[in-house]
Amino acid sequence: MDCIFCKIAKKEVPAELLLETGETLVFKDIHPSAPVHYLVITKKHISSVAEITEGDEALMGHLIHTAKTAAEKLGVSGYKLVFNVGKEGGQVVPHIHLHILGGWATLVN
Ligand code: AMP
Ligand code: ZN
Repeated sequence: MDCIFCKIAKKEVPAELLLETGETLVFKDIHPSAPVHYLVITKKHISSVAEITEGDEALMGHLIHTAKTAAEKLGVSGYKLVFNVGKEGGQVVPHIHLHILGGWATLVN
């Protein structure tokens, strides 16, 4: 399958990795839309939130927990977690990913 995020998960395409667990990976977004912008992906290919099944519930919990751990590592005290779902929802890459957006505090303080 020609999926860019599967290729990143398999280390076939380089990315600026922040964190890796058995089932997830966190890397820097190549076109950041916030001072801090990282993506959390599952190593398993799931196209979007619209495609998750009951069997993926624990994995989705783990995905969010990975985001929390990544945010701690990044030192952001507050952040947004965003799933774009489907083309109409602004999803461009059809492999599930959670955006971690933050870093504004350093700009306003
Ligand atoms: P979305 O619109 O939710 O599908 O977001 C996809 C995100 O992936 C965008 O913010 C892109 O900048 C980012 N992106 C696409 N290709 C790469 C890549 N090779 N490495 C890192 N981030 C990427
Ligand atoms: Zn994929």
